[in-house]
Amino acid sequence: MRYNVATRDWVVVAPERARRPEDFHAAKPAITEDRPAHRADCPFCPGGEANTPGETVRFCDAQDNWQVRSFPNRYPALTAEAEEGPPTGSLFQRRRFGSGIHEVVAESRRHNVTLALQSEAEIELVLRAWQQRSQELFHKRELEHLVVFKNHGVSAGSSLEHPHSQIIGLPVLPSSVRRRFDDAFRFFQKGKGCVFCEMLRAELEDGSRVVVESYGFLAFVPFASDSPYSIWIVPKRHCHCFALTERSELHELAGVVKQVLARLYVGLRDPDYNLIVRSANPPGPGTHFFHWYITVVPRLSRMAGFELGTGMFIRSSLPEADAAYLRGLQLVRENK
Ligand SMILES: [Zn+2]
Ligand SMILES: [Zn+2]
Repeated sequence: MRYNVATRDWVVVAPERARRPEDFHAAKPAITEDRPAHRADCPFCPGGEANTPGETVRFCDAQDNWQVRSFPNRYPALTAEAEEGPPTGSLFQRRRFGSGIHEVVAESRRHNVTLALQSEAEIELVLRAWQQRSQELFHKRELEHLVVFKNHGVSAGSSLEHPHSQIIGLPVLPSSVRRRFDDAFRFFQKGKGCVFCEMLRAELEDGSRVVVESYGFLAFVPFASDSPYSIWIVPKRHCHCFALTERSELHELAGVVKQVLARLYVGLRDPDYNLIVRSANPPGPGTHFFHWYITVVPRLSRMAGFELGTGMFIRSSLPEADAAYLRGLQLVRENK
């Protein structure tokens, strides 16, 4: 069993169940690049803009064609409309403020791409859209928490093929997020500094789980990550909030995201995955000890009774072996 010092979670590593990377290859009939570049019935393809009114971001090329755009989700999980709930203290509380936000970011004009196949310049535009909307939403609304995420593929929960990500703003702080903040604070209080900065130092020193390293970012398979090939991308500069990332850092991050996702795409044949930006709010009183990062979790194993019953995971590969495999891949598609 291994312990993750940042999340305080134990994971069962069962190397006797270890499988070869090929055994994790997605058993999909078709991968992203096999799709048509445009689908007339897709609400996010060019031509379908009328389906998604209320645009909040529109980044265009020199010919004024949009490259990345964001807009309110047509089927939102949360809306800004208030709802009267029972008074606080009731066992049946519904909502505290009644305000939330749910937006979609269309990441490309092309239907048959995903970040792994896009250029670094295109990925940078997506990261800028996430950052810009995070900043704007935090300034405009009283949100307790905001999460940026991407569901790639059906087993990651995606219902639409077109490359897209989502931004959800919540009027409450989810308990798992609060626990992460609390754990980081506890570590800090013991005089040990930032748990993520410490983890970075240790992972860099060890090196065996590193997938990609740049000047300002480290991508690695954490020592005690829950599932095979899950990766953390962590900025080396201590900062609690993704929205406060500098422009030059976003540029660099795009390259690291490209490297990580392209390695997963090539090495595991376009696996379904969830990508999540874990971040505290920009003003974040009391959250400066947190350290934002990105997790990429390929959906290669299912949650079963043990996982649901304990909240712990059994992983069937060694993090060091996952990292070595991804590091060693020769990427043919180096489209800058
Ligand atoms: Zn489309
Ligand atoms: Zn830190």
